[in-house]
Amino acid sequence: MDDCLFCKIIRGEIPSAKVFENDDVFAFKDINPQAPVHVLIVPKKHVANALEGADAGIMDGLMRAAAQIAREQGLAENGFRLITNCGRDGAQSVNHLHFHLLGGKQLPERMA
Ligand code: 5GP
Ligand code: ZN
Repeated sequence: MDDCLFCKIIRGEIPSAKVFENDDVFAFKDINPQAPVHVLIVPKKHVANALEGADAGIMDGLMRAAAQIAREQGLAENGFRLITNCGRDGAQSVNHLHFHLLGGKQLPERMA
């Protein structure tokens, strides 16, 4: 996707603070962090969101990466939150599937 923000970040056309990369997954710090650790975990393949085109292989890769990143970011002991926003009501603002990995503080109990 030529004009997708996260595809451009994956290709290195827009700089980012990378925290993880393998053949299928790229992860980088959110530009507007909402917690001490706020990492965006995205598939290298352009998939719009959790409804469109995210097959089991992609999701498995993302979940494995999330667990590894959580450990590397020091979140294993106290835990973390892993969220994907989808569509209008989910307040998805970038139409490239991504999981927010949030941690490093006590997060609010309510999610919405
Ligand atoms: P969404 O609202 O779609 O679930 O999440 C999009 C996230 O992307 C937001 O948390 C926003 O701060 C982040 N974001 C938007 N533009 C950029 C950017 O250029 N670089 C980085 N690192 N994060 C971005
Ligand atoms: Zn994309």
